Amino acid sequence: MKLALVGYGRMGRMIERIAEERGHRIIARIDRDSETDITQLGQLGADVVIEFSQPAVAYANCLACIEQGLPVVSGTTGWAEGVEQLRALVRSRIGASFIWSSNFSVGVNLFLELNRRMARLMCHAPEYRISMSETHHIHKLDAPSGTAITLAEAILAERTDLTHWTEQQAPEDRHALPIASLREGEVPGIHSVTYRSAVDQITLTHEAYGRDGFALGAVIAAEYAATHTGVHTMADILGTL
Ligand code: NAD
Repeated sequence: MKLALVGYGRMGRMIERIAEERGHRIIARIDRDSETDITQLGQLGADVVIEFSQPAVAYANCLACIEQGLPVVSGTTGWAEGVEQLRALVRSRIGASFIWSSNFSVGVNLFLELNRRMARLMCHAPEYRISMSETHHIHKLDAPSGTAITLAEAILAERTDLTHWTEQQAPEDRHALPIASLREGEVPGIHSVTYRSAVDQITLTHEAYGRDGFALGAVIAAEYAATHTGVHTMADILGTL
């Protein structure tokens, strides 16, 4: 497959390496001051565009590619309203293809689904108290992580006895789901959900070894976008793996 990369930063470079390992060819790399114009990608023969840039430019980048009839996979975060506008546009255009995800890691997406199923199952065992933890590198600015919040919201949606998540540990309020955020060294990301009873505990953990998982997921999404039109999510893609 011939791929064009829009945004050639840390993710763009990692996607290039993984795409080449999977036998694809990178025919264009567009960054802030590139000579190649984004409106030329169609003429250059790109099969799919992978866009990992910055929130302020992601909408214009993706729109320019969709206007040329190119399938687009975007992982840029922080432009949710624009994503919804483009999804609506792509749904109204026959043959257009657009996949956006805030987290392309296949493992994280499987973990999110396992978490949802486990929360549903554990509704039958209310004697287990739930707690969560997330560990990341010391440079991370936000806490809890976006993934931890997504996990917590899925649990809250299943459990009528829980009303909110809290950063307070061992809260007296039994309607609160505690999330502990730990910051250590260069840890890429560990998320755990623990169900504890008086006699045992069950823990579901996802541990990332690096950022490669995001890049691999984005390339898998590009392979999917090349053969599927319309608006898709990682959940659709996982169903086909
Ligand atoms: P980065 O800062 O290393 O790279 C961003 C690149 O975009 C830079 O090289 C910058 O020069 C370039 N850029 C700026 N303006 C541009 C323009 N008009 N056109 C093309 N490129 C332009 O950041 P990163 O770590 O590569 O992350 C990029 C984005 O991906 C961020 O929004 C980040 O949050 C997101 N991200 C998403 C996932 C996921 O799984 N969805 C995973 C990791 C990172």
